[in-house]
Amino acid sequence: MKIAIYPGSFDPITYGHLDILKNASEIFDKVIIAVANNGSKTGFLTVDERVELIRQSIKGIDNVEVDSFEGLTVEYAKKHGANILIRGLRAVSDFEFEMQLSQTNSALCDEIKTVFLTTKPKYNFISSSTIKEIYKNNGDISKFVPKAVDDYLKSK
Ligand code: ADP
Repeated sequence: MKIAIYPGSFDPITYGHLDILKNASEIFDKVIIAVANNGSKTGFLTVDERVELIRQSIKGIDNVEVDSFEGLTVEYAKKHGANILIRGLRAVSDFEFEMQLSQTNSALCDEIKTVFLTTKPKYNFISSSTIKEIYKNNGDISKFVPKAVDDYLKSK
């Protein structure tokens, strides 16, 4: 059974993340989308809010689970019997950071492999940080995030 972990901040989850997740779910037997609880990084939404919004957004994708974790991603992956990490690539600008992260993770744990996926072009430019900017300036984010996220943020 090939289990993959898709770690990230997901603050909030976007259609870009969801597209990566759907692609991963077609390649691997099980995908765990794992919200990193990074104490030093103050989030827009709490980890619990992010997990709940992901839970609502992944309904219908059977082999995907959502969770959160603290500490090293490689340790979390080992605990769940996974040796694959999923990361998304948008533009060349993502590449340097993602390359460094994947090499760090494989240096920490030899068995861990990172698989990079891309989205459909229409989702490629979406990032959680631009969503937050649009939202804070009262713009419409419904084209960029799952309905659960849009509804929740409207009600906030
Ligand atoms: P992190 O803080 O760990 O980068 P993010 O939630 O910002 O967490 O992103 C998680 C992963 O999803 C990263 O690998 C990022 O490059 C990828 N990602 C985010 N948005 C997109 C998108 N629109 N297309 C492709 N990959 C994406």
